Amino acid sequence: MIRSAAARLALYYLAIIMALSIGFSWVVYRISDHEITNGLRRPAFLSNHMVRPAIYDRFTQDRLYEAHNNLRVDLVAFNSFVLIAGGALSYMLARRTLQPIEDALDRQSRFTADASHELRTPLTAMQTEIEVALRDSKLSIGPARQLLTSNLEEINKLRDLSEALLKLARDDGKSLNLHRESLDQISDQAIKRVKMVAKAKNISLVSEVKPQLVRCDRTAIIEALTILLDNAIKFSPEGSQIRLSSQQSAAHISLLVQDHGIGIDAKDLPHIFERFYRQDQSRSNKAKSGGYGLGLAIAMRLVNLHHGNITAKSQPGKGSTFAIILPKQVQ
Ligand code: ADP
Repeated sequence: MIRSAAARLALYYLAIIMALSIGFSWVVYRISDHEITNGLRRPAFLSNHMVRPAIYDRFTQDRLYEAHNNLRVDLVAFNSFVLIAGGALSYMLARRTLQPIEDALDRQSRFTADASHELRTPLTAMQTEIEVALRDSKLSIGPARQLLTSNLEEINKLRDLSEALLKLARDDGKSLNLHRESLDQISDQAIKRVKMVAKAKNISLVSEVKPQLVRCDRTAIIEALTILLDNAIKFSPEGSQIRLSSQQSAAHISLLVQDHGIGIDAKDLPHIFERFYRQDQSRSNKAKSGGYGLGLAIAMRLVNLHHGNITAKSQPGKGSTFAIILPKQVQ
């Protein structure tokens, strides 16, 4: 599709180039024709009323014919060159113009393929369980309840996944509601959201965030920080501690989340912000992640909208530190 669009765009570019080139050639031809004809018919050394020998007229005719011919050949050669070089250049320019669109389409179709794969997994699990149960003519209430409970779990997963997918799609066009916000209030709000989950694992959340002011969309940054805290809890052992702190430099303000969990392998670290990326299944299962690999992609998207970034440092087996870095001057 992109290839044919590029070819069509190249043809438009080429049509414009050729129209200009042919127009220019026509003007050159007319001017040169006028100059040659005048110059040969009335040379300076012959005045108007002098009688011209017949041989001179024949000579003039021959020279005129030859000059016109040469001019036409030169202009045809020039236009052929413009046609070939312009064609190649037009196609190159068209490909370049359409490259960002091609990249976006690639990303979109990869995203759709990944999303449908993720959606199919719980659906297939549910379908298999139901089919097996239906084949059992003596299905009793006990196994039937078990089946329904398991199906409900899959339905909950599907709901979470579709909510995450919707969030990613919506946040793509999100416009920010920027105000000066205090970092400690933002972190308190995020902590409030995950407090119960942390309590269930006996994990203590310690906040050393200072009341620094930053211009940001409060809801978006609370959401991003909640995702980081949620992960820190998910991947930390029971009874451990998660520390929140803040830092500032001349141009940036950072919010840090430090855990003492399973950590992230160096080979996984560059990929964890990609959509649907999860660390080695066995490690994630160990930590009962149950996620879809969308959390960090959503958090990064929200922070990127502020022209900020999220960085991650980790030591496998020791823990990880994630930092939300926001520019002090968000436009
Ligand atoms: P998920 O919903 O699977 O947690 P995320 O996008 O939030 O998806 O995270 C992607 C992957 O990055 C996780 O599956 C996990 O392997 C890794 N990860 C993220 N945060 C942490 C953390 N604090 N400690 C260890 N691994 C983490």
